[in-house]
Amino acid sequence: MFLSVFELFKIGIGPSSSHTIGPMVAGSRFLDEILNGDWPRPASDGVTHISVSLHGSLAFTGKGHATDRAILLGLAGKSPSSVTRSEADAAIAAIHKEKKISPNGHPAYDFSPDSDLVFDYETILPGHTNGMIFFAYAADGRMLLKRVYYSIGGGFIASEEELAKQQDASAPQNVPFPFENADQMLQMANQSGLSIGSMKRENEIADMSANALSDGLMDIWDVMESSIVQGFDAEGELPGGLKVKRRAGKIHEKLLDDWRSNKPNPLLANDWLQAFAMAVNEENASGGRVVTAPTNGAAGVIPATLSYYLKFFPDAEKSSIEEFLLTASAIGGIIKHNASISGAEVGCQGEIGSASAMAAAGLAAIMGGTPAQVENAAEIALEHHLGMTCDPIGGLVQIPCIERNGMGAIKAVSAASLAMKGDGTHFVSLDACIKTMGETGRDMNARYKETSLGGLAVNVVEC
Ligand code: SF4
Repeated sequence: MFLSVFELFKIGIGPSSSHTIGPMVAGSRFLDEILNGDWPRPASDGVTHISVSLHGSLAFTGKGHATDRAILLGLAGKSPSSVTRSEADAAIAAIHKEKKISPNGHPAYDFSPDSDLVFDYETILPGHTNGMIFFAYAADGRMLLKRVYYSIGGGFIASEEELAKQQDASAPQNVPFPFENADQMLQMANQSGLSIGSMKRENEIADMSANALSDGLMDIWDVMESSIVQGFDAEGELPGGLKVKRRAGKIHEKLLDDWRSNKPNPLLANDWLQAFAMAVNEENASGGRVVTAPTNGAAGVIPATLSYYLKFFPDAEKSSIEEFLLTASAIGGIIKHNASISGAEVGCQGEIGSASAMAAAGLAAIMGGTPAQVENAAEIALEHHLGMTCDPIGGLVQIPCIERNGMGAIKAVSAASLAMKGDGTHFVSLDACIKTMGETGRDMNARYKETSLGGLAVNVVEC
């Protein structure tokens, strides 16, 4: 189950990893299938027309999560890690105007967004609640190619076959520390004398150079930090119709004023953590560039926690960023492997809860925690998110998501602090907590799993 740090932390655009980045990647992948895939190609004619249907949670909250834009961008050949907002707007406007998609290296395909992108609220595909079907047709209307993809959380995409393989995956791993759960991770740390972050580093450099790993981690941090700066600089209303105002910039200004005038603030830690996290998630909600950590909806927790460390810990060093991110990704990989990081699968406990556990582990590690203390920190943070539902109002990643990131960061710092007061022994293991999260998510009514059919989404009147 080895999952690279760069699979969990992916640079992309908002507002959702499962509903924006995943569908965008799926669109690009379908284009690749058309050109290079193994399917019977008629000699006389080729693909002239494409259509797509969205199912389950992608249909229910796809409009609020910009899945429609994401599909168009993916089919236009754009990448979530590099497309700019103006390029995206121009590409989407062109498709709506011309009713054609013209990706590089392909002929122009007929695609009318109004009729060729279908939100199917009736049919849930069998593999996962976030299902998509892509169709390619010949000029006479014959269907030439059909592909089903699932967006399985955190921007990951799986075909039907890949999903089946993942579900019974027990493949041996070609890495020096192949831990699949927290118990194995602690045993290996004990035997090797290495920290969790160091074991994760060894696993990563089994497949890349140490320099490439360091450069990649700093790129991830640069984008996280930029998303905070951009969030502080921006103002006005977020898109989508809820008229939610950006608040992070004003809160930041107030905190800076208090700082400059030496005004005591007994809530300083909470306020800064909330401001950092909200800045990232306001950027995410506006379609800006963020890092999945482990998802877009939960993208603010880890940058907020790490920023708080860098700004307020007297001995903080930038060299700790790598250890933080590697440790956090080790915990995220275990959670994804044994439960889920997807709100559509297990509710918000899988998104904000996982992010908080990852952040708590990363912080405990750079505070000098032992592997047992790090595991304890992750467990405390996750335990106190158990049962949290996903019920975004209007299907937008705004309420409760933006503030919830700040709460996740505050819990992460508290969890790390609490764990560091002990010696790592504790009652509930991280593995037991992850198992509980997975089971709770499976038992959770589908209304509370990113469909906006229950919870706040139905009890708050949209203005
Ligand atoms: S409620 Fe949580 S899981 Fe649902 S969209 Fe918001 S952040 Fe993601």
